Amino acid sequence: MEQELIQTIVDFFKNNERQGPGCEEATLKALGLVSESHYFEHILDIGCGTGAQTMTLARKTNAQIFAVDLLAEFLDVLTERATRWGLQDRIAVHKTSMDDLPFPRNFFDMIWSEGAIYHIGFERGLKQWGTLLKRRGYLVASEISWTSNERPQYLTDYWMASYPEIDLISNKMKLIEDCGYIPVGCFTLPNAGWDNYYHPIIKQVALSIAQPINDSTKKSFMETIIDELIIYQRYREFYNYVFYVMQKK
Ligand code: SAM
Repeated sequence: MEQELIQTIVDFFKNNERQGPGCEEATLKALGLVSESHYFEHILDIGCGTGAQTMTLARKTNAQIFAVDLLAEFLDVLTERATRWGLQDRIAVHKTSMDDLPFPRNFFDMIWSEGAIYHIGFERGLKQWGTLLKRRGYLVASEISWTSNERPQYLTDYWMASYPEIDLISNKMKLIEDCGYIPVGCFTLPNAGWDNYYHPIIKQVALSIAQPINDSTKKSFMETIIDELIIYQRYREFYNYVFYVMQKK
């Protein structure tokens, strides 16, 4: 991705609570499906962004959290947040890519990834990240999924162009088993998780209409965001983020 677009993305998202759909209620619900998380020593949070879920994981477990993201400015915000909460000794940030993680094999009790595994692809993420998990370690990932097997062709085309790995929940569960995990549970994100993400964005879009953008990168980024918002408003009953909780065999 070119630098100008990356900077546009950083500037747009870094002051928002979250960089993807999600909410604390869902993070806690997923954590509730994980057994004995209070005994965990090491948790890896991949694609952590500015760390909304990282703070929850740090507060609700006793583990050392390794928070990974590609973008330093997001990690800076996360570090400020952790310091404000007095959690700086429990969270270490790593600016590194999710497809080349510099951690030992069989090291983590749990890997967590909210709204980010699509960057590497669900199947590839499950396979590669699994090597970092201890035996019986957990992987929890939220992933965009079809919630209906009948839907408008326009919507199918839109998502296939953006993320061809989007699939029905039943097919994702089968894939989880094929990738060497025991499926523990799954649930769809409540509407509050989308509201958390989209409410600040709607304000930003409104501001951009009031102050027209001349820069072509920013303009095309804003058009993409507006398309995404329209799709969500029109077709939200056909897809959702789904939390998948699984355990390494
Ligand atoms: N988990 C956060 C949340 O729910 O608010 C952020 C989700 S955001 C949709 C996806 C995150 O993945 C961004 O912070 C982005 O910088 C990060 N990301 C994208 N590509 C990455 C990569 N190759 N390696 C690590 N992080 C990456």
